[in-house]
Amino acid sequence: MQKLKKHLKIYVNRSLNLASIKSIGFDMDHTLVLYNREQFESLAFHETVKKFVANGYPEELLKLKFDPNFVIRGLLVDRERGNLLKVDAHKYVKSAFHGHRKLDKQERYELYNAKSFKADDFLTVDTFFALSETQLFIEIVDTMRRHPGLIKKSFTEIYQDLRQWIDLSHQDGSIKNRVLAEPEKYIDKDKFLVETLVKLIDGGKKLFLLTNSDWTYTNAVMSYILNDVHSDFPHWQDYFEHILVSAGKPNFFTGNNPFYEVMTEKEGLLKMHRGPLVPKKVYHGGNAILFEKLTQQVGDQILYCGDHIYGDIQRSKELFNWRTLLVVQELEDELVRIERLQPEFERIMDAIRQEEELQDEAQALRSEIGTLQRRLHMASSDKQKEQKQASKLKEYQEQLARKETQLEEQHRLIKDLINHRERSIHPVWGELMRTSLERSRFAKQIESYACLYTSRVTNLRNYSFSQKFRSYRDMMPHDL
Ligand SMILES: [Mg+2]
Repeated sequence: MQKLKKHLKIYVNRSLNLASIKSIGFDMDHTLVLYNREQFESLAFHETVKKFVANGYPEELLKLKFDPNFVIRGLLVDRERGNLLKVDAHKYVKSAFHGHRKLDKQERYELYNAKSFKADDFLTVDTFFALSETQLFIEIVDTMRRHPGLIKKSFTEIYQDLRQWIDLSHQDGSIKNRVLAEPEKYIDKDKFLVETLVKLIDGGKKLFLLTNSDWTYTNAVMSYILNDVHSDFPHWQDYFEHILVSAGKPNFFTGNNPFYEVMTEKEGLLKMHRGPLVPKKVYHGGNAILFEKLTQQVGDQILYCGDHIYGDIQRSKELFNWRTLLVVQELEDELVRIERLQPEFERIMDAIRQEEELQDEAQALRSEIGTLQRRLHMASSDKQKEQKQASKLKEYQEQLARKETQLEEQHRLIKDLINHRERSIHPVWGELMRTSLERSRFAKQIESYACLYTSRVTNLRNYSFSQKFRSYRDMMPHDL
């Protein structure tokens, strides 16, 4: 097989044999249905700003502009202080902003790194919906920084208002109705979706849809992306064995809600369901225990693909041993940049190796110097030998001073190279799954919960339906 570009690959945390997977489930929003992020998030942003002003916040807020590039997933929100944090896998805050003001190292240290860090005190930006929400919070914080006294509420109170009104924007139709009115503006059709689904079906996999969206919205957007594309599957429902809407994940995996049959021809009327799930019918609610029982499927024969670590991936894996594939859409552009920056990454690695060599040489000199100093301190009758040792000592000390200067330069060079690479990947936060060269907290979560991860669910088309995905994660540092 031709070597795949990085952004077309599927990455493996836990080995998985696709041949032993019988059933593949999909989340809908941001997994099967991709949104034009800029349009979609700015819609949520502006609809929520309107609710702020309607509820007594200053009209100044209507001037706020949506910046699609400031907030990324995996960041933490400090609601109490109005700060946004990027944390590494060891809970060290590597970068922080108050509004748009970057906190310096000392501030970061005093606020976060000097004490034990409790991630539970903060909110994780882990869904696409949370991106616009966090962006709005940061813009309001920044407005307050620039205009002290304009808003007389604490950051925590503002966040509570924000939560309430953003949820309302999602519930009252302000967002969904606009998406459905102009789907071509808000939804990006993935031209490989049909090919991918058909390839999986031809490979003997049964597909199911498991979404938190309601029937009306699901039916509308799925019709938009899948109806009348393939002659064997004229209607979107033809691709799926089971369709589960309003599932309420993650509670779907923890609760015991019954299934209701959605009377699709009667505009979504619900009827309590008993007995096995009938293929091709649409069900509302339900729970994973019942789903496995009613469809006679077992956990590790199911692969579930979703974009939300907590809602889609963590519970399904932990509680049901479903195999999981996490869609990290933002990796797509980033992996293209990472691939282009590969020579820079190698230069950094070379520079680090050179620094290590310099450190070893400096260490050898320090040890020689120590030995000579100790000898010179001991009384000796051989003045000539003593003189020789003294001049050797001076020579080593000069060499060490030069090495230390070289080391400082090398250290600065590495820092500059890393900074340049990070800024080329994302101007504010650097790489999504790294902070400098360490793994980010987000990367650690992906490692813990997702068997596989990729930037698009349609990357499945690049692999055989009996592909053995092999993990190299179990390599120990001493194996390398
Ligand atoms: Mg989703």
